[in-house]
Amino acid sequence: MNSSNIDDLIFDCISSESQLNKRQDVCCLLSCDCVYGSQPNFLCKMSLFISALSAALVGLFQHVEPTHAAPAQHEVNVQGTYDFVVVGGGTVGNAVAARLGQRMPGSTILVIEAGPSVPDEDRINIPGLKGSTLGTKYDWNFTSIPQPQLNDRVITQSRRKVLGGTSAINLMIWDRGSKYEYDACEELGNPGWDLNHMIAAMNKAENFSSYNREDYTGIAGFGVEGPLNAVVNKYIPAHQDTWLPTFANLHVNRNTAWLGGENVGAAYHSSTIDPSNYTRSYSAVGYLPLTGSNVRTVTGVEVAKVNFDEEDGDYGATGVTLINGTVIMARREVIVSAGTLKSPPLLEQSGIGNTSLLQKAGVKALIDLAGVGENLQDHPRIQAAYQLKDNYTSFDRLKHDAEYAAEQRELYDANQLSAYDYAASAYSYQNWSSILSQEKETKLVEIAKRVAAEHNSVVDNKKLQWLTDLNLSASVPEAEFLLSDGYSGLKSYPQPGDPLYGKGFTTVFAALMHPLARGYVHINSSDPTAKPVYDPAFASNEYDLKALIELSKYIRRIATTAPFSSIWVDEYEPGLEVNTNEEWEDFVKNNVNTFYHPVGTCAMLPRKDGGVVDSELKVYGTRNLRVVDASVIPVLVSAHPQTGIYGISERAAILISGSW
Ligand SMILES: Cc1cc2nc3c(=O)[nH]c(=O)nc-3n(C[C@H](O)[C@H](O)[C@H](O)COP(=O)(O)OP(=O)(O)OC[C@H]3O[C@@H](n4cnc5c(N)ncnc54)[C@H](O)[C@@H]3O)c2cc1C
Repeated sequence: MNSSNIDDLIFDCISSESQLNKRQDVCCLLSCDCVYGSQPNFLCKMSLFISALSAALVGLFQHVEPTHAAPAQHEVNVQGTYDFVVVGGGTVGNAVAARLGQRMPGSTILVIEAGPSVPDEDRINIPGLKGSTLGTKYDWNFTSIPQPQLNDRVITQSRRKVLGGTSAINLMIWDRGSKYEYDACEELGNPGWDLNHMIAAMNKAENFSSYNREDYTGIAGFGVEGPLNAVVNKYIPAHQDTWLPTFANLHVNRNTAWLGGENVGAAYHSSTIDPSNYTRSYSAVGYLPLTGSNVRTVTGVEVAKVNFDEEDGDYGATGVTLINGTVIMARREVIVSAGTLKSPPLLEQSGIGNTSLLQKAGVKALIDLAGVGENLQDHPRIQAAYQLKDNYTSFDRLKHDAEYAAEQRELYDANQLSAYDYAASAYSYQNWSSILSQEKETKLVEIAKRVAAEHNSVVDNKKLQWLTDLNLSASVPEAEFLLSDGYSGLKSYPQPGDPLYGKGFTTVFAALMHPLARGYVHINSSDPTAKPVYDPAFASNEYDLKALIELSKYIRRIATTAPFSSIWVDEYEPGLEVNTNEEWEDFVKNNVNTFYHPVGTCAMLPRKDGGVVDSELKVYGTRNLRVVDASVIPVLVSAHPQTGIYGISERAAILISGSW
């Protein structure tokens, strides 16, 4: 029996149960005792038997755990030769491996993930516990170098170290940028990466189920058959009802079709939640159940570097070396999906990067590629928190009222409406003309022109085009506002003993969509386990700083506009005493933070423009090393990035399989 037949059978097993809950699919891959309803699943048993037989026959997979088995530890002794080796079982790594496995059933694919597999972790699965794994063992916990422009503050950047990667811990927001931003990727020199290709790819990833209702009247531009569930949250706190009328009073139109490439306006957006049981939908539970026996996932194993052979100055990736020294061979390709802050250090440890930087770090340089680790872009965010009137129940209550929390947990476990269902759903994407007077907008754009001229990069020029071209500036948002219920600023929730302890808050965030700051991430040592040097450069130029100050002021304007103005008694952070330009500037410098959207450090751009990968995602100077993750996005778009990142995975699988 060839592996293609085996895959067909396993596919049958999964697709025959596709109406059933995803966790049952996982169960199917794990256990022959799995029953759906009262009937033992015969196909399930068959597929497991055939998988085991095939692995034994091929003899390739010694010591490698099957996908979704219990977490493996660092002593797992993975070895062997695979057609494709994927570094990082994160958002992209799992998606690209699963799709490659489907498209190339005769090929073997190994996914190597440094973190554990934790399918039963409540803090990952329950939407209302989102954020509770920040800074835990599931986090790489990156910290920046001190930021002189921010009074020497250090920014903490979270990236996940767990099967599913950052999709396992993110805030689940599922939205899309504007069509011009997707087209920009092609215009920057990447044929095949325009809006049409990207929308098709993003649609393949999603199963959006909130269409044909008040929040989403659009009928096109979204997918309904993909492995990732997206739904507009059913839990809407009462005070959130003021959001859309407030924006109407601010003359911001409502948008009820935001997935098709037109995202300006106020809206209720979706989250990656499985509506059947209100659990997080992410790459490990969405994509890995699609894999057949030709895809293997090993967890708790970290890759130290990619290995190469050389032919006429052209480098071919032969496999990877693990931290423990084990070498794993790749017959066809190595695919690096370690994320924006880990893929560049991995390339650098492998000898690809700026030669002088590599020499300083004590790494032998193979390919001089100065763009590696540069072009780091992230959405800087700022926020204000409002103390709610006592008649509103804030999400904070789950944290300080144990009885209420237990009651809500019971409702959640019974699959009834509960505060534990909550994920943010209220947004507004806006351009400057809806935020600033014409005079202020003109001044801000003049500043942007000056800053972009100093940088003289294709990336900044594209951002400038969105700001200055009148045909585009109305359609490409420069700011996002988001209501995140509960307190989530930098000041921290009032401590026990404080008169405000036990009060409820709600937070309004603002993020700058196209900052002109570009930071970096690099190694400074040849030790692959050392933390990289990370500089997000937030507010490091006059445009970004001034823009963030204007966004802070606009949050106050939202809050003081009816009916939102009727829900709160005080501005807890920054506080109504902050009023002058100097005070706002201080507040921004002391409070600007990441929206957790770093991209661009292995940019898909022509080499002359600082690119690291070409439009087939191949690293320049190599025959068969690709980077597929958020790091290839050349320019930030006005959206939370995971939708586009899954689209990149889908597109990458088509490109890679098409080239063999
Ligand atoms: C707190 C937070 C909230 C967010 N909220 C949202 C949101 O609501 N909506 C949205 O769209 N986006 C959100 N994002 C961003 C989004 O989730 C990420 O941009 C995206 O998941 C990144 O995907 P990736 O595949 O590039 O990297 P990751 O998903 O981080 O995957 C990289 C994987 O590689 C592994 N790895 C790294 N190095 C090695 C190595 N040497 N060996 C083996 N394995 C390795 C890592 O452990 C990780 O699992 C959020 C991010 C954070 C941190």
